[in-house]
Amino acid sequence: MRSAGLAGSAEGDGGSARPSPDRRSFLTRALGVTAGLAGAAVTAGAFATPAAADSTGIQSLQDKWRFCNKCFALYYWGYPTDGVCPAGGSHYAQGYNFILPYDVPPSATAQDKWRFCNKCFSMFYWGYPTNGVCPSGGSHYAQGYNFVLNHDIPPSATAQDKWRFCSKCYSMYYWGYPTDGVCPSGGSHYAQGYNFVLTHY
Ligand SMILES: [Zn+2]
Ligand SMILES: [Zn+2]
Ligand SMILES: [Zn+2]
Repeated sequence: MRSAGLAGSAEGDGGSARPSPDRRSFLTRALGVTAGLAGAAVTAGAFATPAAADSTGIQSLQDKWRFCNKCFALYYWGYPTDGVCPAGGSHYAQGYNFILPYDVPPSATAQDKWRFCNKCFSMFYWGYPTNGVCPSGGSHYAQGYNFVLNHDIPPSATAQDKWRFCSKCYSMYYWGYPTDGVCPSGGSHYAQGYNFVLTHY
């Protein structure tokens, strides 16, 4: 739909009388074609190369996801406040700045339906009929992007493993320490399922 709109505007500019119509219509049409190609690739489920994503400005990646050293959850650090931490007060960011893919096709090693909770700012799994336990009270509430997170692939210098789903509160938390943080449902988080591998700067 976006590519169709750009193509339409390019045709419109080409037909209008402007002081320098040739240059303007050429530039507009060139941009429209570039965006159209990128859109078609995404729709077909193909993997766009990083270079292609950069050249069009279309990048399905969000950074500012951080580890909370109080509850061990993954939370969004991009707002002026830091959400609600089950350990009390707000989350507290430590370590890496994670950069996570969203709104791309899932695969055998990438699970979708991970969402931002707009009540506590944590990342939680939205794929069950219920939405887990939120430290702000009640259940998590999904807003925004559909994150698609890698799992069970080799970690690297810029990709950390041992991120897990908590089967008690549905949050994503770091399972790499001797203890399991603080769970909003009481006690510590409890790991189940995949070993997620999150890319960071
Ligand atoms: Zn926390
Ligand atoms: Zn929540
Ligand atoms: Zn938990």
